[in-house]
Amino acid sequence: MKVALRDDDTSYFTSPDELERVYAGIWDRVPVCLAVVPFAIGYEQRGIPRQHWHSGESFPLECNAALVGFLRKLIAARRVTIALHGCTHEDFVDGYEFQAAPDPDDRIRRGRAYLESLLGCRITVFVPPHNALSKRGLDAVAAAGLNVLGSFLSFRPSLRSWDGRTAANWLAIRRYRKTTRRSRQDHMVFPHVLRYDRHAEFGCHSLVPGTTLDSLTRGFVEAQGAGGDFCLATHYWEIDSTLASVLHAFLDFAARQPDVRFVSAEQLFA
Ligand SMILES: [Zn+2]
Repeated sequence: MKVALRDDDTSYFTSPDELERVYAGIWDRVPVCLAVVPFAIGYEQRGIPRQHWHSGESFPLECNAALVGFLRKLIAARRVTIALHGCTHEDFVDGYEFQAAPDPDDRIRRGRAYLESLLGCRITVFVPPHNALSKRGLDAVAAAGLNVLGSFLSFRPSLRSWDGRTAANWLAIRRYRKTTRRSRQDHMVFPHVLRYDRHAEFGCHSLVPGTTLDSLTRGFVEAQGAGGDFCLATHYWEIDSTLASVLHAFLDFAARQPDVRFVSAEQLFA
């Protein structure tokens, strides 16, 4: 069973200390997939200084030289991998970036090329800002051949273009929902990679305020029973001492399970 860890929102606004505070002692056990914003524009979020919440100003990652140097070292040491987390992560009046931006294809092209050259890494995974993707946003991600790591598994047929594998995936999800006795409204994280013609998708379990060790281990045991894999997704700026102890206890729990292998998020799709 593969177990991976994802952390969102590293951007110009992130200091190396904030990542170090949460992941020192973790990233030598489990590589952390940092979902990075290349050209951050502020929005209302605790990790972003209030004066930038509505400024509309775009901050390229390279303007935070200390962070760039830190990330390069982490990548070289295989402590982190880098995923693309939108292009600016800005909120539009009528939706989140990959629901409402008029140019999702260009944003992916620009953001990916920028991060790959600035950080000297290869990017194969896309994490949608706010976990939100319109049909057009998903088409852009699929056209770029990036795999999607979400914290959801919305399978509304209206929200995706259908390809040769969509019907089989839809049936697999329906079957899983039935086997686990869930209604369409019940929360569900499908524990297997869903492969489409040009990309693949995998849903993560969230570690957010209120998440308990018990709920994570239950999700883990369900995925394990289904022969699936597990990815935990969080935000460094939200990790207080309570969440930190849940995170450490969960990783200890996972490490004790037979046949568990901690992998990078990219390897979930291998
Ligand atoms: Zn985000």
